[in-house]
Amino acid sequence: MTMDSANIDFYQRLFELENVFDGELDFAHLSKNILNTVIRETAAVSGIVYWIETVPNELKIKTISGIPTTHINGVTKVLRQPDGVLERTVRTPEALILNGLHESLPDAPELKGMAEFYRSLMMIPLSVQSKLLGLIILFKDQDAFTQNQFAVLNAFAPRIAVHLDNARLYQVTKETALENARLYVNLSKLYQHATTDPLTGLYNRNFLMQRIREEIKKARRFKQPLSILFVDLDYFKSVNEQYGHQVGDQLLTEFGDFIKKSVREYDVACRFGGEEFVILLPQTPAENAMILAERLRGNIVKRRFCADKQLAITASFGVHGLSETSDHSKLLDDEQLLLEIENLIGGADEALYRAKNDGRNKVILHQELA
Ligand code: GH3
Ligand code: MG
Ligand code: MG
Repeated sequence: MTMDSANIDFYQRLFELENVFDGELDFAHLSKNILNTVIRETAAVSGIVYWIETVPNELKIKTISGIPTTHINGVTKVLRQPDGVLERTVRTPEALILNGLHESLPDAPELKGMAEFYRSLMMIPLSVQSKLLGLIILFKDQDAFTQNQFAVLNAFAPRIAVHLDNARLYQVTKETALENARLYVNLSKLYQHATTDPLTGLYNRNFLMQRIREEIKKARRFKQPLSILFVDLDYFKSVNEQYGHQVGDQLLTEFGDFIKKSVREYDVACRFGGEEFVILLPQTPAENAMILAERLRGNIVKRRFCADKQLAITASFGVHGLSETSDHSKLLDDEQLLLEIENLIGGADEALYRAKNDGRNKVILHQELA
């Protein structure tokens, strides 16, 4: 063979070896494929891929091929000896062939113990940008490793290292993405827990107070109307007294459902506390809020709650709209915003109080109080 054809053969080998990567991103699969390929390429009988885990920083076996299970402990024990061939390679990464393990090797006297299993060993460090990431060890039980096999594998080693490193990175990224997704789900649950009333599934008072702030700012900024509607069940205490707390709870749940189904998607329905509900109505003037309240009141009177009990109930309503008198041109500061919130809620509450005093089962608009 001329020198040229030897070279061509060499590059042809490398080129063919590249196929082993083939877009594989799973670290376990990739390391197995690589190991089997280089075993075939070098006519070895078995081999191990070690990889350095960063946390904790230690060399870990990732793939073993061709070593009988009864020998694995013996083989790895010899490799792992203090100041043995593994430790030395990690300290000073260097590819090496150690043929004739049955004779005592001056460079690696501890490998005499390996003669029981193998005759020859080839060690190929895997580094990326001079950083050792792992190593491949190959074994033969009769022959020696040749310089040609050594050269091909040494030339191939940087490619192996890069691909395994990418696969590792891909795995870490995937795990991080999964972990983030889990965190996000937990956060959503936490958020839902903090903003919803468990009995009715409506928003809670906490959430309402946040939304009122935002809706008032929006209404002011875009010169849009905003209304609020307070609803309180009439004589609810007597339901508890007559049928027990559990039936009271069931009534509240059904009432919450009724409210939810009676409002538009952009309306914010909340359980304000006890048997008091609030509906925030963005882009809605007080006249329209009155119409909604009147419709709700009428429907409540008509329907029956708690199927087996056929409970007939009524509710009282207080309605209030954001005043149109404020100066729309300037942004609200925190103090003004607080006043607006107090005014909106307080007004609806006063109207509700009047509805109660006027005999219940009524809708009162705050602007009509005076
Ligand atoms: P009014 O017509 O004046 O509103 O009379 P009311 O009985 O509806 O109002 P009151 O404020 O006197 O009583 C409200 C009752 O609601 C008292 C309380 O025990 C009950 N309650 C508050 N929260 C719950 C709850 O989560 N479940 C049940 N079953 N009852 C509740
Ligand atoms: Mg009540
Ligand atoms: Mg009440």
